[in-house]
Order: sequence, then C-alpha cells, then structure tokens
Amino acid sequence: MTNYHSSVSRRDFMKAMGLVGAGMGAATAVTPAFRDLDELTASTDLSVYKKWWIKENDFGQLTTEVDWKVFNSFDTAKHPMPVMFGPTANGAMSAKNLANRKKRQTDGMLNKWPGSTLRDLALDGATGGNYPSIPWNGPNVSTPEGRGVPRWEGTPEDNTIMCKAASHFYGAPRCGAIEVDDKVKKFFNTSVVWEDTDTAYTTSDGKQHVPNKCKWILTWLTKQNHAMNKYTLRNNPDDPWYNTVFRQGKAGENQAYSHAPQIQYQVMGFLKGLGYQAIKATASGNTQFGVWSGLCESGRTTYALSPDYGLMVRYIDFCITDLPLAPTKPINAGLSVFCKNCMTCAKVCPSNTISLEKEPSWDTKDPGNNPGLKTWYLNWTTCAEYGGPFDCVNCQTVCPFSHDNDKSAIHNIIRGTVGTTHLFDGFFANMEKFWGYNTQLSDQVHTDWWYRDLETWEHDTLLGFGTKGW
Ligand code: SF4
Ligand code: SF4
Repeated sequence: MTNYHSSVSRRDFMKAMGLVGAGMGAATAVTPAFRDLDELTASTDLSVYKKWWIKENDFGQLTTEVDWKVFNSFDTAKHPMPVMFGPTANGAMSAKNLANRKKRQTDGMLNKWPGSTLRDLALDGATGGNYPSIPWNGPNVSTPEGRGVPRWEGTPEDNTIMCKAASHFYGAPRCGAIEVDDKVKKFFNTSVVWEDTDTAYTTSDGKQHVPNKCKWILTWLTKQNHAMNKYTLRNNPDDPWYNTVFRQGKAGENQAYSHAPQIQYQVMGFLKGLGYQAIKATASGNTQFGVWSGLCESGRTTYALSPDYGLMVRYIDFCITDLPLAPTKPINAGLSVFCKNCMTCAKVCPSNTISLEKEPSWDTKDPGNNPGLKTWYLNWTTCAEYGGPFDCVNCQTVCPFSHDNDKSAIHNIIRGTVGTTHLFDGFFANMEKFWGYNTQLSDQVHTDWWYRDLETWEHDTLLGFGTKGW
C-alpha cells in the first residue's frame, strides 16, 4: 500500500469523500448503514443493494444512455450473432484455433501440466449440462387450482419482497422487478408478441405470444464462482499456450451455467405454485433486465457489471409474470464512469474485441450489436474467432470489481469511493494490478487447489447449507 501514498494524499482522499475531519476510521468504515436521514428514508426492503454508495436512480434513468427511437427489439435476422458456445459448436472459430485447442488439451493431459491435467478436464467436464429442461412457460408444479384453494394475493410491495426471499433461497443473491411498458417490451426479440390473451402460447411461425396482463418481470442474478475463476487465467508470456485458459478454472463458469437453470426452474415453479404465470420469452441479451431493475450497470464489456460481484455474474435471468410486483429502481454505483479510465479488461483481451476508447459511443462494431445504446460495443466476431469465451475469459477475470475482500478490505473502500467520486478511478484501476488479478497463477497454486483445506475453504457451493456453512 505504501506504493500508493505518494500518488494520492490521505487528505485529498478524505476531502473528495467529504470526510475531512472525520478521521481515518470513518474513511475505512465505508459501510455505515446510512449517512443521513434521506438515505435512511430512501432505503426500503425494495432496494436491491443496501449500501450507501450505491445510489438509486429514478425509474428509467440508466447509467447507459439509450436512444429509444433507434433501440428496438433484437432481430436475429438483422443481427446475426457468431456461434460462441461449447467445445465443438463454435462455428466462427478458425480451423487453426480449433486444432490448437485440441492439441493444447491433449498436451496438458499427457504432460500433466497443472491446471490442464486429466483431472482438471474431468472436473470441468462434469459441470456442463447438469440442469433441467424448462418449458418457456414454466415447469409443471402443484398449483392452487389443483390444491383446491384460491391463488396467493398480496400487495405489489410484499410480492416483490416475497420473491426476493424465495429466489435468494434458490441461490440468487440479488433479485429485482420491472413493470412492463413499451420500452421494456423492446428488451425482447422480435419473435415475442404481446396481445390480449389469457395464457402464453407459441405458433408455428416461431412467435411467442405473451398476455398483456402479464405486466411485470422478475429479474435475478446468478453469480459465477470468482475464486475458481482466478484459476482460468493463462497469460504468462512464457507459457506455451499463452492467452488461453486452464480448464480447471473454467469449471467455475460451467458450473454457473448449470446453477442458473436450476434457479430459474425453481423461481418459475414458485410463481406458478402461487397461481400466477411465469414466462421466459426470448431475449438475445440479458444485461438490459439487470440494468433496468437495479441489479447491475453495463460497463466496458457491455455485459452485467455488478457493484458487488463485478463481471462475476453468469447472467441476469428473468421471467414475465402476472403476479403484481413493485418495481426496483436502476442503480448508479459509479461503475460505468469508472470504466472510462480503467480499460483493464480491454488491455488483456487477446482479440481486440473490447474497445480501448475512453468514451462510449453510439457506433456499433459488429453485425451482432443492437444499435441505440451509447456504450462500448463489443466485436463479437473477433471474440468468437479467437475461441472466446470457451477458450478465453480474461475480461471477466481481471475486472477489479470481480474480487472479494480476501486480500484486503481495500475493495470495500474502492467500491465506496467509486460510488462517491471519480477523482481516483485511474489510481484505483492501476492499484488493482498490485493484487495480481491479471497474473497467471503458478503451477504450485494450480496443484494445491486439489489439496486445499476443505475445512476452511470458503468458495465451494455446498448444497444443504445456509449462506455461511460450517
Ligand atoms: S472472452 Fe477473451 S477474447 Fe472474448 S472479449 Fe473477453 S477477453 Fe476478449
Ligand atoms: S475491467 Fe475495468 S473497464 Fe473493464 S468492466 Fe471492469 S471496471 Fe470496467
């Protein structure tokens, strides 16, 4: 830490935080419940985050600018996305990169390279595809009708609180709610049709028909295992497979892909069990649901950037319902402004997919982009050609907000400061490199994972426990 004292004086730091005279104790205690009565009043159980530096904006006031005359429902015919997922499904990937992937994996197993051994690949391989198939209008569960009782009735406020409580139990740390209007309808693909009908149905032309009376959307976040994700990074120039990934670490991401549908199945089943509809209509993107309902902002990578979890969000999930919900407000935690100076993700991107421009722009970069946002559009094609995200996850791993407090409480100070002032954004972005988040782990660390102390290791998802475990 002493390396940084010369760059920003304690007084400057405290002054910018409005804490001059409060003592350093106040500066380090950046998680007071409330600073004043306004914050106390503004904070209700409907808030997605209860941290004073995360401000709630008015409904519809996003930290990403939208030109609603240009922004429209995503049309897959107009905006083809490169195929990006799975070990063999990556149609955009060059034959050379595909052959390299196979050689890299075989080399790792035969040479027993820590992080790439057979047991590492087996660990990763077992995490994929471990999830239920969910009908788009929710799973079959016991309904009030079947039970011979009236459906659940509650106020919109209490319903949102109830859904947050249930989805947290199912495994989603954050949950929000949206009231559907004409702008929100644009979050769905052109294949989604809203009409006056009682129940959702599909037609042979591929259209999904959604009842207009389903006026709310429940949103939730599935977290990705940040501790495991650190084991993916392979960017040591001396490594023969520089700028690819270790499958050992990718097990964390794959496991999140298995967790997300399990949570979705249970949340949708819960809504139906209350006697309401739960509809997962098609939307090619998911970040917009999180931004609108206050689960995240959209930063330089354009996917969900959470104040707590950074880019360690597998995705934002959602379902449309006729259960009346009190909507949650969009947030401003200073993240998208921080991204202007940070650029850490862009600098480690091996395919130049992520913009290095300081300011976001209205200009799209790839046919797969949906225009109408002032953002840092990604070039999806170059990412897919490189093999990302299957063979690269650098951007997610290095984001300063993707890490918890396991090395120092500094991260809560950073989060609190970024939400208060942007004077130190560049300083913090550089300082994060000090912690080594963008440095490949040693062979020993990869091997040691297999011998970690299971009594004290806090980062596995153990089923049957509460949040704490023991
Ligand atoms: S996955 Fe890799 S190639 Fe794709 S955008 Fe992220 S850093 Fe770039
Ligand atoms: S790494 Fe930096 S620029 Fe990229 S999303 Fe995270 S905060 Fe923003």
